[in-house]
Amino acid sequence: MIYYSTRDKERLHPYSLKEAAFMGLAPDGGLFVPERIPAVDMAVVESKAAESYAEMACYLAGLFFGEDEPETDLRRMVFNAYNFDCSLVKVGEGKFTLELFHGPTFAFKDFGARFMGGMLGLLNQSAEDLVVLTATSGDTGSAVAAGFYNVPGIKVVVLYPNGKVSDLQESQMTTLGGNIRPVRVNGNFDDCQALVKQVFNDSAFRSHVNVTSANSINILRWIPQSFYYFYGWCQWKKATGAELPTIVVPSGNYGNITAGMLAHAMGLPVKGFVAGSNANDVVPEYLQTGVYNPRESVRTIANAMDVGAPSNFERMMYLYGEDFDRLTGELAGFSNTDAEILAGIKEMYDKFGYVSDPHSAVGYNASKFYGIEGFWLSTAHHAKFREVIADTLGREFPIPEGLQVAMRKQKHFHPMDVSVAALEDYIEECVRG
Ligand SMILES: *Cc1c(COP(=O)(O)O)cnc(C)c1O
Repeated sequence: MIYYSTRDKERLHPYSLKEAAFMGLAPDGGLFVPERIPAVDMAVVESKAAESYAEMACYLAGLFFGEDEPETDLRRMVFNAYNFDCSLVKVGEGKFTLELFHGPTFAFKDFGARFMGGMLGLLNQSAEDLVVLTATSGDTGSAVAAGFYNVPGIKVVVLYPNGKVSDLQESQMTTLGGNIRPVRVNGNFDDCQALVKQVFNDSAFRSHVNVTSANSINILRWIPQSFYYFYGWCQWKKATGAELPTIVVPSGNYGNITAGMLAHAMGLPVKGFVAGSNANDVVPEYLQTGVYNPRESVRTIANAMDVGAPSNFERMMYLYGEDFDRLTGELAGFSNTDAEILAGIKEMYDKFGYVSDPHSAVGYNASKFYGIEGFWLSTAHHAKFREVIADTLGREFPIPEGLQVAMRKQKHFHPMDVSVAALEDYIEECVRG
């Protein structure tokens, strides 16, 4: 499969899978998309999904990556990546959610990060270690760290701002050890991002160190996120007998929902999508007014969706051929204040005894508002937001064992001031051992 940039309308610059995956963002600033969208056979999807998530994912991964990687390697990688649950849960009468938080970091990003980690392991055949360099404000770093843990030939250098990530997030990044090398930067998230950018722009450094990024626009994180839409669909059909769901997606950078749109373009039958947002409602506003006005984000309690300029917006427009009417025919927007999110959490608990995290509660509220027939995606486990949940529901809930384990372990990190020279020295040290 060949990949093109969303901005390369004439298709003049083809990239191999390896090139697209190692670059992340296309050189012209666009996002990579596959040359063609493979068509699925839904009967095959259903029979594979009845066996297991991994079995279904092997079929779908083969459609994209089968020309690039031998089937046996892909299969081993997929089974290794997807060793956790993905389940449609009935919250109340006619109310379903697809829980995507049963992976090692308790958020849906595990689906993309674990797949990407495995694929980079397959793609990097050079003798030199590949360094995956990434900056995080919390959740991405933990998903990438867990997803790339123990992948042969790869070192992960993850930068996070000192004092600006939660204790739990810091534990998730700093207790793995091995090939995961966390750097605690004495600065804020913007400093971390600027450092990463400076390293990527230092061509002299990059000529002797093999370094790549793993941010959420990467094709290897985006494509596998389309797989769980198929799985959710099969389970929803089994539960309801219906075949045309509307799917509600709590959204920030819109990588998740555009992966759903990719699934739809591959042949997944859906009635439409709803993009749920918090107060950062750039896309819902665009769907209402036709005016796209990206801006600074504001802080909310659903902080993984605090995005003012969604990085996948271009991919979404690409998938709909830049056609506003086609897009609004299949996509509705919805936004919530913090107070509305908290009310949704409380209502779900009071009415159904279901505990939801703040991001997923936007999905519930949107489903209710539109009276949708379908399901919403639950993107994180409530235990990741236990202070908010305890305040809202007036009680504490058990923390899953997997989270407790990380919290008990000793943290190991490399403390660093905001200095490119220090970071480059440290990266070289990581490559050596
Ligand atoms: C990253 C994240 C989102 C937003 O997903 P996008 O793909 O950026 O739209 C929503 N909820 C949680 C819990 C997340 O971690």
